[in-house]
Amino acid sequence: MKFLRSPSVLLACLLIVPVAFARSHSDSPADIRSDTAAHRSAKEAEPLPPPSAYNDHPKLAIILVIDQFRGDYLDRWRADFKNRGFDLFLDHGAYFPDCYYDYANTKTAPGHATIGTGAYTDGHGISANSWWDLARNPNRPVSSVEDERYRMVGEPDSSIPGDQPGAAANAPKFLVGSSPRNLLASTVGDELRLATEGQGKVFGISLKDRAAILTAGAAANGAFWIDPASGYFVSSTYYMRELPDWAIAFNTGGAIPLAEQEANAPPNTKEFYEVVGRTPAANEYELNFAEALIQGEQLGQGDVTDLLTISLSANDILGHQVGPDSTDEREMVDTLDTQLDTFFTWLDKNIPGGLGNVWIALTADHGVAPVPATAAQYGLNAAPWDLDKLIDALDYAINMKFSPGEKIEYILPHQELPYLSLNAAEFMKAGINEQEAEAAVQQLLPAAVASLTPAAPEPPPSDTTSGTQAAAPPAPQPSDTRLPPHPVLFRSYTREQLADGPYPPTPWGELLAHSYSPNGGWYLMVIPAAFQMEAMGPGHTTHFTPYSYDRHVPLGFYGAPFAAGIYRQRVQPVDLAATFAALLGINQPSASVGQILTEALKPESEVIYPKPKPAPPVRTHHATKPAVHHAATTPKAAHP
Ligand SMILES: [Zn+2]
Repeated sequence: MKFLRSPSVLLACLLIVPVAFARSHSDSPADIRSDTAAHRSAKEAEPLPPPSAYNDHPKLAIILVIDQFRGDYLDRWRADFKNRGFDLFLDHGAYFPDCYYDYANTKTAPGHATIGTGAYTDGHGISANSWWDLARNPNRPVSSVEDERYRMVGEPDSSIPGDQPGAAANAPKFLVGSSPRNLLASTVGDELRLATEGQGKVFGISLKDRAAILTAGAAANGAFWIDPASGYFVSSTYYMRELPDWAIAFNTGGAIPLAEQEANAPPNTKEFYEVVGRTPAANEYELNFAEALIQGEQLGQGDVTDLLTISLSANDILGHQVGPDSTDEREMVDTLDTQLDTFFTWLDKNIPGGLGNVWIALTADHGVAPVPATAAQYGLNAAPWDLDKLIDALDYAINMKFSPGEKIEYILPHQELPYLSLNAAEFMKAGINEQEAEAAVQQLLPAAVASLTPAAPEPPPSDTTSGTQAAAPPAPQPSDTRLPPHPVLFRSYTREQLADGPYPPTPWGELLAHSYSPNGGWYLMVIPAAFQMEAMGPGHTTHFTPYSYDRHVPLGFYGAPFAAGIYRQRVQPVDLAATFAALLGINQPSASVGQILTEALKPESEVIYPKPKPAPPVRTHHATKPAVHHAATTPKAAHP
């Protein structure tokens, strides 16, 4: 074990030895092999260390995130599942069907940061996919991971620069890079890197940069996501100067044309993210890239544990357009069941000792609301909010209060609920400080929301009106049918209230405390009534609220330490990183608040890992050269 050559680790081992001896005489020895008498006597002579990251138990840990995968899907469609896809968790793993995020801002970036760090927004700092940072960019919100100090690597020339129309001829030959600059907590992968002194390799994959980066962490060897136009997997100079050869080979091999063909998309679509990304072919495309990465970086082949985070984006891209109750969504889930079976079978063949030497955790970054029209059909008050109209109404009311006769835009455009960002510069020009500004908007908000309700139909003309006396308005008549939904404001909180409380001493108060971040400048958190959201296209839906449908996700574990079963107690996604860290024998991530799910753990004496066969051959994949280690072994080019 190369790892034990480190002087500091040798010292640590000397200190641990007496404890290990004590363990060997206890009723629950930490021996991972069969408990034969021969082994026992050998162990007493030379106790084995307990299985952990330091002695490659497991060889590879995988955190599998399905973007926008609500916690009820696996129960709802369980009869569809075959083989060893989702059933790996449901039948052969520890599965927690009642897992709920304990914060209010159920968006993709904070969800992935929460999974990686075992902390909520108040710990990891990521509050939304993007937010206004007027000092960095006065023209538009900045994304949670975009970072102009770095550039993207690996995109094809045809995509440069993808977001600047007409600039192809002499445009700068780079796109803005991405990094974990806003992630304030370490991930379980970061802690693995530290604990193994860089020997444990950590990578993240997604179609989305935020989902790849925020789950894997700042110390990851690499994170890969796609260039939206071409579908090429790319990275950023934060992680590497150029793509590893195996990734270049993947991008220029047959994977993209195959995915386009399977998605019934035109070849070289130029809209890979939108066109292919919303089909089951995108999940297969990502899993194929995961296999190429595992081989190219030789994950699971070393003396310590490696970690890979995979966030599958397709269910989210489709789900926003069709909602959770569509047959398209169900078909994508059923197809994913088969695709996961294929991936798990591939792991079984390619990781030394097979799937028994792999841990896999399954979860999601958030759930989703039913399509408002569907919820309204059942009688729920699922009203759409016209955000532009709301901003106009607020701006009008704020001008009346602070600058009568003027048309100053006090509310910023491009809002991402549940946040409503204020234009601090304009308020300051009017001599209004943050506290006064946020309090004023909070006070004016209920009337502005009420103004979104469509006007009631004109009452029918009365035939009893006569004489010169004005008729009394007719009494409202009871409706024969259900009235249409109407916008309702449930709660709002100013940034200062979220930062300082006081919070009610209830679960709701804790949820609010978990949602705080200073990102976004001056803002309010605006919480509509349940099932309400910003108005969008027919059949579309989204996620952003503290309601159960947005917070409910699956949590499943497969691997040697986990006792198979369905565990009904309420758990949280933060428990994933906490449990992995504890079992790996490494520090908890820096802001972790998760619980270790001890109820799902086997007694140590029953934890058995397969012994790998000696020197398994490394197969080539997609005609790539194996064992290329650009990202893993070269020092980071421009690491801060
Ligand atoms: Zn998401």
